[in-house]
Amino acid sequence: MSKKKPLTGISSVALHSGGKNAEYSHVTPIYASSTFTFDTAQQGMERFESADKENIYSRWSNPTFKAAELTIAALEGFGLRGEDGGPLQLKALLHSSGQAAMTTMFMSNLEPGDTILSHFSLYGGTYELMHKVLGQTGIKTVIADLRDLSVVEDSIKQHKIKLIHIETPANPTIQCVDIEAVTKLAKQHGIIVTVDNTFATPYLQQPFKYGVDFVFHSTTKFLNGHGSAIGGVLLGKDIGLMKTKVWKWYALLGGNSNPFDAFLLINGMKTLEIRMERHCDNAMQVANYLEKHPVIAKVNYTGLASHPDHTVAMKQMKHPGALMSYELKGGLEAGKKFIDRLQMCVRAVSLGTVDTLISHPASMTHYGLSRDERIKFGITDGLIRMSVGIENVQDILNDLEQALEGL
Ligand SMILES: *Cc1c(COP(=O)(O)O)cnc(C)c1O
Repeated sequence: MSKKKPLTGISSVALHSGGKNAEYSHVTPIYASSTFTFDTAQQGMERFESADKENIYSRWSNPTFKAAELTIAALEGFGLRGEDGGPLQLKALLHSSGQAAMTTMFMSNLEPGDTILSHFSLYGGTYELMHKVLGQTGIKTVIADLRDLSVVEDSIKQHKIKLIHIETPANPTIQCVDIEAVTKLAKQHGIIVTVDNTFATPYLQQPFKYGVDFVFHSTTKFLNGHGSAIGGVLLGKDIGLMKTKVWKWYALLGGNSNPFDAFLLINGMKTLEIRMERHCDNAMQVANYLEKHPVIAKVNYTGLASHPDHTVAMKQMKHPGALMSYELKGGLEAGKKFIDRLQMCVRAVSLGTVDTLISHPASMTHYGLSRDERIKFGITDGLIRMSVGIENVQDILNDLEQALEGL
């Protein structure tokens, strides 16, 4: 047999990186078992001693999680080189949610007195975790415009920053931060860089290419792709650190996934590339349509040359993604009316599912905030957020057309 050739395409990687299972089952089985058996005391001792802590207890590791972890690590590192010139090795830990993965990431890297620097356009749960939970443990967060490098530099000088957290594209304004430029600056000051790659997926964007330290995803979104399970994953390139300190926090915080959700994720990831191609293709057509529509004041989509972060997005992403937001000239009332009129597109929060999801942040996700607070985050009264699905694009356009008529 000739030497094993590396896979050249990301769909092949998505389909063939989960490893084999003991019973030769073609599809990864759901290992619904809390604990694992030992043949002898010696074998138990060896498993406890091993760095991988496999086949002991499912809060620590589980074969179904492992198949998902191997696949995500292969996708996120696809085609990248490590410092030694060989293929980049990554270690992934599958969690019960994106929030759990984020908690492990921050808690294992930070101590009381440390400061995080992040951008003002962030996923709501990230912002709240930073301010309400980490804040109580003595970890501070400084929010600044990470799109402006001089602001990043000033913030590093003014505060003793331990970690920079980048979310790009960011929710719900679809702003993009230049991962390469910010990481370069951070590394000059020995600062840890973490990236939320949920909106892009490893198919569109690979932050490890720019030397970041950790990447996490809410797998609930495009990686699962079908909206059938909540999940999260944390990836790191320092394998030693991932298997010791980070694993310790993961195991002790108890944010592990469960075998059924991991199984759903594995099956969803198999079609990542073809889904993303269709999502992005549809999104571009929808954005072009909306930009010309008379009742729409503004479309935020990184694929449009009018988006302020268009250049950065196109530099670091394969395609501009499937998320966009747009502002209705008619404000709050027009926003509510538009949502109520939708016939096919689904009224729901969340994103990254195969069908098109549309939400109105002012009356839904951000309803609890005061109007002033909302506006500060870029959430105007008539802002609509849309996660473009893989339907036949004409049906999406037809639905928008009838819902926007005369608003
Ligand atoms: C959904 C989401 C999260 C949180 O993930 P959960 O799976 O809901 O816990 C974090 N970041 C981004 C960008 C998200 O979209």
